[in-house]
Amino acid sequence: MMVGLLFLESPVDDSLGLKFLCSLEFALLRRVRPMSYELYGLVPTFYPVLFPPNPDGSQCCTPWDFSSMLEYFLLDAEDFFENSPEIGEKVGSGIWLEPNPKTNEEMPLVAKAVQLEGQQVITIQVIKEEYAERVRILRKARLELMERRKISNALNSFKKKALFDAMTKLYNRGSFMEILQEQVEKFGAFTPTMALFIIDVDNFKKVNDTLGHLVGDSVLTQVAEILKTSLRKNDYPARFGGDEFTVVAPDTNTEQSHKLAEKLRHRIQSHQFNTGEIPVTISVGYTTYRLGETVQNFIRRADKALYDAKQMGRNVVCFRDPWFIDDEEVNATA
Ligand code: GH3
Ligand code: MG
Repeated sequence: MMVGLLFLESPVDDSLGLKFLCSLEFALLRRVRPMSYELYGLVPTFYPVLFPPNPDGSQCCTPWDFSSMLEYFLLDAEDFFENSPEIGEKVGSGIWLEPNPKTNEEMPLVAKAVQLEGQQVITIQVIKEEYAERVRILRKARLELMERRKISNALNSFKKKALFDAMTKLYNRGSFMEILQEQVEKFGAFTPTMALFIIDVDNFKKVNDTLGHLVGDSVLTQVAEILKTSLRKNDYPARFGGDEFTVVAPDTNTEQSHKLAEKLRHRIQSHQFNTGEIPVTISVGYTTYRLGETVQNFIRRADKALYDAKQMGRNVVCFRDPWFIDDEEVNATA
């Protein structure tokens, strides 16, 4: 079958096209020069409702003064016209809902900028009701999504606050106990060795009493920072309370834990704290995990090792062997 196309030789009367566009609720604005536009053709009904006429009764040629969305679009359109686009190319605004200032009813609009045969034109169109409904549904879904995201961000922030010590930003005692319990449960199958450290600042009361609590706080924050930067990614440092810190280090055997304890002690000793003549040092008690023992027993042994370090004069590290079962432990398990 032959398909024939008929082209009219004589130019078509412009007004027919303009009437047609107007009936489809299209407003055309022709660009005269940068940032200057004139309304072209017939004015569709929505236009003067949304963009009030000038005081002299003429139609408004600056609708962006009334619509932040159009104002935003105008920047894109100007950029598009200035950068000489290919003929036929266009930029669009996406659909937005413009409130009718009188009724507050929202009208879905879309704007486009096109360059055609030397003419630079912006079109503003009211979208058909069926599309409008889709826009409303999409907008509702987007608002719900944003609301949910807000709630989830707030929850995450609460969770963070609940997990970490506010001053040092290390895990707090509660979250550390959970981490330690998890590590103990994983022990054996995935973690062949594991070390626990309890670290206490020596004579910390003297810092507080001589230099005040603010300097004391600053010392604790710096100690925490040194711990964080001295550990591996899978080690968990925590503030256990007051001037006492803990670290659980999975995959760490006796020899490695000794090196780590000494490294921490040495780093604190050689750090320049703002405490003048008063030295800041730590004592470290550490031990490794014995398969089958409780978290409480594990902690109790590390605590005993810390006690030994304090007894030995402070600024030292002490180890307690997991296979040496003392009377207290025998009694506790009896
Ligand atoms: P030792 O060598 O035996 O540990 O002596 P010490 O003076 O450090 O004694 P201890 O560890 O018992 O003292 C802890 C002090 O830490 C007591 C408390 O006033 C102080 N402290 C606890 N929490 C904070 C805090 O958040 N900020 C400050 N500045 N001081 C704190
Ligand atoms: Mg102390």
